[in-house]
Amino acid sequence: MPAVPAPAKVLVSGANGYIAVWVVRTLLERGYTVRGTVRSESKTGYLKNLFKSEVESGKLELIVVPDITKPGAFDEAVKDVDAVEHTASPFHFKANDPNELIEPAVKGTVGMLESALKFGGTRLKRVVVTSSCASVFDSNSRGLINESSWNEASITLVKEKGSAAPNPEKYRASKTLAEKGAREFVSKNASSLSWDLVTLCPPFVFGPNINEISSAADLGTSQALFYEALLSKTKTPEDLKGVAGGWVDVRDVALGHARALEVPEAGGQRFILSSGMFVWQDWFDAANQLGIPDIPKGTPGAGKDHQYVFRYDSSKAQNVLGIKFRDILTTTKETVEDFKKRGW
Ligand code: NAP
Repeated sequence: MPAVPAPAKVLVSGANGYIAVWVVRTLLERGYTVRGTVRSESKTGYLKNLFKSEVESGKLELIVVPDITKPGAFDEAVKDVDAVEHTASPFHFKANDPNELIEPAVKGTVGMLESALKFGGTRLKRVVVTSSCASVFDSNSRGLINESSWNEASITLVKEKGSAAPNPEKYRASKTLAEKGAREFVSKNASSLSWDLVTLCPPFVFGPNINEISSAADLGTSQALFYEALLSKTKTPEDLKGVAGGWVDVRDVALGHARALEVPEAGGQRFILSSGMFVWQDWFDAANQLGIPDIPKGTPGAGKDHQYVFRYDSSKAQNVLGIKFRDILTTTKETVEDFKKRGW
């Protein structure tokens, strides 16, 4: 018996985001009923059109939560839902003041849990928070790292340097503080909660877009990196040498959000959702192997010799959530096809 069986009602915050629209689609396909939050009425039109029949049949409802940092922002949203998927949080590397990221990340996440405690009632069974591998790895990570690893270094660095800290560190601190804040809230209030918490940690998320974008300039942070690297013709494999990270397909992240509701044993757990590590040469090689035109060659195969200082262990997500992660050829093919279909 699933922990939260369909057709249960699931609240998805930030429902218009790159990852969240896939989460909404996956939940609807698996028979769930969804209440999505967006920041303004103008963001509902695209979703109402994309999920027309589900809106008409009452399977999808969209509501506006204008400011997730306000106390009680989600008080109404959490009423009469069986589960929550909290995805809303800023993801960019452009903030000067770290609080531009930290406030909405922490107040949004802990605020969601406060609302869930006050107004979720006994109906609410599980809250899933979209965290990030930004809260898992740090400059001290070595070898195979798993869910027991926490990014303490970014918090310290941002505390010390404030706006002078490197911008990616500000984002990483925001995600770590939000996930830690969620875990602390749950342990402090354990005796009063009818629900448990699952946190999901993806590294860079790539894959086709089904959210509202009219040009490459509208792409979210991870997708913009992918587009710039492979298709914008502004970067060569040489430019991107040394840039390495973990990656996962957006559809596997969405499946992770659904499985986190379905699998009883997921309750209380933290999961790394990662397909593998990459250097950009790997994506150039995949695109060339697929015969995609106009992709620079670089040094084919050079990625295979890359010495990673750490790698993610995603065996827990594979074993407990039952996710078989997509491979680089599949994600490259379907992401590039999506871009080409848009004429980019
Ligand atoms: P996205 O497309 O930018 O979506 C972010 C969502 O959060 C949007 O609905 C956005 O609303 C909302 N949001 C952003 N800033 C906000 C604020 N200050 N107040 C209220 N809502 C705000 O990003 P995404 O890539 O789908 O990311 C979704 C979640 O996954 C985030 O928690 C992110 O940290 C996490 N994540 C992403 C990646 C990745 O590579 N993409 C990797 C690991 C974790 P608006 O559209 O109104 O701005």
